Amino acid sequence: MDGTSLTGIFGDNPYFSAGAGLMALTVGLGALRQGSKFAFIAAQRRMLVSLEIPSKDRSYEWFLSWMAYQTSARAAVAQSRWARMHQLSVETFMETRPNGSVNAFFTLVAGPGTHWFKYNGAWMQIKRDRNDRAVNPATGRPWETVTITTLSQYRYLFPKLLLEARDLALTEQEGRLLIYTHWHSEWRVFGPPRMKRPISSVVLDDGVSERIESDVRHFLSRKQWYAKRGIPFRRGYILHGPPGSGKTSYIQALAGSLGYDIYLINLSLRGLADDKLTLLLSQAPPRSIILIEDVDAAFNKRVQVSEDGYQSAVTFSGFINALDGVASSEERIVFMTTNHIEKLDPALIRPGRVDVIQLIGDATPNQARRLLCQFYSEPDTGEKLDPHYATQLAALGDELASIVETRREGGHNVSMASLQGHFIRHPTAKEAVENASILFA
Ligand code: ADP
Repeated sequence: MDGTSLTGIFGDNPYFSAGAGLMALTVGLGALRQGSKFAFIAAQRRMLVSLEIPSKDRSYEWFLSWMAYQTSARAAVAQSRWARMHQLSVETFMETRPNGSVNAFFTLVAGPGTHWFKYNGAWMQIKRDRNDRAVNPATGRPWETVTITTLSQYRYLFPKLLLEARDLALTEQEGRLLIYTHWHSEWRVFGPPRMKRPISSVVLDDGVSERIESDVRHFLSRKQWYAKRGIPFRRGYILHGPPGSGKTSYIQALAGSLGYDIYLINLSLRGLADDKLTLLLSQAPPRSIILIEDVDAAFNKRVQVSEDGYQSAVTFSGFINALDGVASSEERIVFMTTNHIEKLDPALIRPGRVDVIQLIGDATPNQARRLLCQFYSEPDTGEKLDPHYATQLAALGDELASIVETRREGGHNVSMASLQGHFIRHPTAKEAVENASILFA
């Protein structure tokens, strides 16, 4: 039996294309594989076509989400495309911020193993294989491959399917914030697209938010100005202040408002050395904000250079060189955060490296008032809005502001994050203000 005759028998048979054939064929080919390797390969080449998507390709995640979407849409769509899809697995993205806080995201995707589904009338087999011996250093997960197999005559469906998966992913990303991070010398999307946070939800000291935003927008409008003078089109910002004051939240909200993505650099990551940092910075695309958190922490460690010249960490001079980079007309916006501005080397503060330094501090009386009013702007009771509610809330805001003021004079500060936590624990503004002393205990 050779491949040609098999195609002749099955290729145009409508029953065959209905799926049972494909299943039988893959089983049959498996048996053939035992018998004659040559005949197996020949038959497989003629009748089946496979598409392999390795997990390092971007379409891999698009495809898995697309598969998951097909299953979740299953109830809604009368005619189900899936023959068997019981093995869902959960993909968890963990995000550990330098300040120790951890976020987790989950998505459901098709689990490892073999699945069958019907796409545009053609049955397809999907195999998700895991290579346990090779691990992706960025995620700590094993490398994987998804192989889609169908009858040769349906090969034209592959590009269609991939485009559909890509479009679905892009639609999901629309209006959302993407955060990229690095592994080795490449940028990778980090976690799922996030809901954009309105800038107004991050309550900074009076005028600060508006000042930074208009500075960034003004900079972006002056590309020609920079080009004419041969000045690299770059601007750097340092937001400094105690933890929990809204530095990161603000930068994320700002990126969302500009329609930019965030490229997050962790200078303390082992293995990130000067040359890789330079490469990464040069590869960050336009319309992105480069975010370097806790920039002071990176240079306290001693740089280790092994015998073969391998350098394990970024040096300060390497960092400066990477920031200065090759002069180009590409725009670049870098935000750095630090809790300890005093630890930073003054050499950082040069036009194009760091142009704006802004303190984002603990809650001022006015910030406390604004956060309270914003947080409780709609009463939790779900009852009809009391016409006097707004007045009551404003009065409570004043009360909180004066408490914060008195405490500040006594040398006691409260962070915006603690205030937010306090509000979350108290169902009404009245209770939050009555119990405000807990904040300073
Ligand atoms: P930082 O980067 O300064 O350490 P984050 O932005 O990580 O602070 O804030 C931690 C948490 O506290 C977030 O959930 C954020 O919503 C809240 N938060 C902190 N500062 C503010 C602020 N100024 N306005 C509103 N929420 C804030």
